[in-house]
Amino acid sequence: MSPVIYLDNNATTCIAPEVFEAMTPFLTDYYGNPSSMYSFGGFVGKSLAAARSQVASLLNAQDTEIVFTSCGTESDNMAVIGALDANPDKKHIVTTRVEHPAVLSLAKRLEKRGYLVTFLSVDRQGLLDLDELRESITDQTAIVSIMYANNETGTIFPVEEIGQIVKEKGSIFHCDAVQAVGKIPLDMAKSHIDLLSLSGHKLHAPKGVGALYIRRGTRCRPLIIGGHQEKGRRGGTENVASIVGLGRATVLAAEHVQLENTVVREMRDALQDMIFTKIPDSILNGHPEQRLPNTVNISFPYIEGEAILLMLDEHGICASSGSACTSGSLEPSHVLRAMGIPFTAAHGSVRLSLSVYNKRDEIELTANALVQIVKRLREISPFSAESEFNPTGSI
Ligand code: PLP
Repeated sequence: MSPVIYLDNNATTCIAPEVFEAMTPFLTDYYGNPSSMYSFGGFVGKSLAAARSQVASLLNAQDTEIVFTSCGTESDNMAVIGALDANPDKKHIVTTRVEHPAVLSLAKRLEKRGYLVTFLSVDRQGLLDLDELRESITDQTAIVSIMYANNETGTIFPVEEIGQIVKEKGSIFHCDAVQAVGKIPLDMAKSHIDLLSLSGHKLHAPKGVGALYIRRGTRCRPLIIGGHQEKGRRGGTENVASIVGLGRATVLAAEHVQLENTVVREMRDALQDMIFTKIPDSILNGHPEQRLPNTVNISFPYIEGEAILLMLDEHGICASSGSACTSGSLEPSHVLRAMGIPFTAAHGSVRLSLSVYNKRDEIELTANALVQIVKRLREISPFSAESEFNPTGSI
C-alpha cells in the first residue's frame, strides 16, 4: 500500500511519538491502582495528578476543575445531564442545529423525555444570530450548550460573546470544545464558559480518553455513578495510561498551537487556493475567516462526496464527506443542511482537515488528485449545470 496522506484530523489524529512514549510504562510496569495505599499504586496516583495539572495548564484552569472521562461524547453527556440533574426545577435546554451528535442526539432524547429544547439555526456561513440566542434563554433554561468550533466546516462561534449573554441571563454555559482544544489558545480564567468538553484522540492522544472542565462552583452531578474516583464526580478505575497520554498531548498542544495558526493555516490556505483556482464551481462551506486553521470543507456540485472519497483513497489520501450513506439512503450532513447548502452541493462535499504532521508536498499531491477526480466524476455525472436537476435549488 502506498504511503497515506492523512487529511482527516477532525475525525481522529495519530498518537504523537512523545505521547506513546509517556504512556507505555503505564501499560507494562506501572499497573498499580492509583487509589491504592502502597507506594506502587501511589506513584500511579501521582502520575494521574501530574496529567491533571498538564490538562488544566493548557486551559489555564485549576487542577480541581478537571474531570477525566472516556471521550468527548461522555464529557458532553456529563455536562448536559449533570447540569440538568443539578438544577431539577429548570426544564429548558438551548443548543444549536449544528452540534455534534454527542449533544444533538442527546438533546433530542431529552426532548422526548419532556424537556423543552430550543435548537438555534445558523446562517449560510454557519454562524448564530446572537439576538435569537439572547431571546431564547429564559429563567427556565438550565443549560446552554454551544460548540466552540464545528467539526465539519471548522466555523468558530464567538464563544466569549455567547458566554457573556448566557451569564447575563443567569444560565450555565457548556461548550463542546472537542475540535478547538489544541488548535485555538484557550484561557478559562478569562472565559465565561462553565463546562468545557475535550477529547484525547483529536489532539494526538489515544482514543478512549477525554476530560470535562467544570468551573469551580458550577453545579454538575456525576453521570457515571460508582466509586470515589475523580473526587466522586466520575466513578470507575481511571484509564491511567491514556490519561497520562492526554496530559503529555496537552503539553505538546501548547507548543504546537502556534504552528497550527501559522504553518498548518498556510498549508490549508494553499490547498484551498489550489482547489478554487483549478476546479470550477467549487463552493466553500463554512466561514471564510472565522474558521479552524486546519479545516476546509468544499462542495463540488453535481457529484457525490462518497465517490470522491473512494477515488481519493485510491491515491492513498484520507478525507471525509458531508454526505453519509446511512441505512441505504444518502442523507447529507445535518450541518450543511442547517446552513442551507443546496442538497446537491451538500452531497458533493469533502472535508480536508490537516495537522502539524502534514507535509507541504502532500498539499500539492492532494490538490492535483482532486482536480483529476472531480473532472472524471463530472464527465460521467448524469447531472450538470445545464441539466434539469437544478443543484442550486433549495433542499
Ligand atoms: N464533539 C465534537 C465537536 C466532535 O467533533 C466529536 C468527535 O468527532 C465529539 C464531540 C465526540 O468525541 P469522541 O469521539 O471523543 O466521543
